[in-house]
Amino acid sequence: MGIDNRKVVLVGCGMVGMSYAYAMVNQNTCNELILSDLDVNRAEGEAMDLNHGLAFGQANMLIKAGGYEECKDADIVVICAGVAQKPGESRLNLLKRNKQVFESVVGNVMKSGFDGIFLVATNPVDIMTKITQELSGMDASRVFGTGTALDTARLRYELGEYFGIDPKNMHAYVMGEHGDSEFVPWSQALLATKPVLDIFKKHPEEFSYEDMEKIATEVRMAAYKIIDAKKATYYGIGMALTRITKAIFENENSVLTVSAKLEGQYGQSDVYVGVPCVVNRNGAARVLELNLTQEELAQMTKSCEVLRETYAGI
Ligand code: ADP
Repeated sequence: MGIDNRKVVLVGCGMVGMSYAYAMVNQNTCNELILSDLDVNRAEGEAMDLNHGLAFGQANMLIKAGGYEECKDADIVVICAGVAQKPGESRLNLLKRNKQVFESVVGNVMKSGFDGIFLVATNPVDIMTKITQELSGMDASRVFGTGTALDTARLRYELGEYFGIDPKNMHAYVMGEHGDSEFVPWSQALLATKPVLDIFKKHPEEFSYEDMEKIATEVRMAAYKIIDAKKATYYGIGMALTRITKAIFENENSVLTVSAKLEGQYGQSDVYVGVPCVVNRNGAARVLELNLTQEELAQMTKSCEVLRETYAGI
């Protein structure tokens, strides 16, 4: 392969994994995509299906099913593998079983001689990313998860609708655990360069903080709503993964809210959590430390505590 080869190994070809693969093909984001799954037959079928679609798109991509030996020269290993919750099974027990899956996956990836970037999407993503970093022993900047990237996209979309502004010009983040304790630091939310908190003050008849909190709740509940309606969520997260992959390959230095390891930022250490990060060819190269208010910092602390407790449970 040429020196510009961009190789991704996807481990886990379920709904999330294949939504990612499909988005990767449509956006022509790499030129070698290896599909790997415990269910080898499934991975082979998925590779055939995608290959047959190539003729209709722009991508000139090598797509095939493969094993862990393919990780040796991969730039990115994306993990979407996991087991489904059994009826009546506790979240903690599910997490313990997923930890076993990751022991096998990460162990095998490392045995291949892999020296790239791990990108994790399996939920609970903050915990699974921490487990990946510990099992791999790799530098924390090269192991990160999807975190609150999708939640942030949902938030910006909702804010755009509310203010009647292109979401690209709404700057706001969802931070913390990708889950119930996530929060929006409103002190950092901007419409273009105007703080949204100033907009409420100036136009109380049109916009209000209460509406903002409603939007934050909607964003937090979005996954539940989708699961209620169609049993699972996968397109959005597949596209978030593709966006992050592009930021890595293009060495973009884009700011994305991914699950990254905190090492003193926000007064927290040794925890993986959703924070705005500079993403480039080196991975989650730098965590941005925003000027959160005391109240927002307390929300961050609470979210990290929730994650620490869950982690301690396994
Ligand atoms: P999701 O909706 O999160 O994608 P799925 O259950 O559809 O969940 O997909 C999970 C995928 O992970 C399945 O295809 C399953 O075979 C795969 N998987 C489970 N355990 C392993 C493992 N140890 N190694 C590789 N793939 C695995």
